[in-house]
Amino acid sequence: MTNRIPIQRCQYCGCWDIGLGWQHGEALVTFKKHGMMGNRLQYLICRRCGAVLYQCVAEPYRFPPVR
Ligand SMILES: [Zn+2]
Repeated sequence: MTNRIPIQRCQYCGCWDIGLGWQHGEALVTFKKHGMMGNRLQYLICRRCGAVLYQCVAEPYRFPPVR
């Protein structure tokens, strides 16, 4: 990942202790209706209150454009 993390502080509790998480496996966000190919979801999570502050996919260019 070369993306810069867009959030450094929890907007809910004001905590600066942000954790990075990945979701993959059974809960993949797929870009094919019935395919097995998926994309990992990156999460930024407040380590104090547990709020999910941000989420994005690891490889957004793999998704087809809407138009
Ligand atoms: Zn928080």
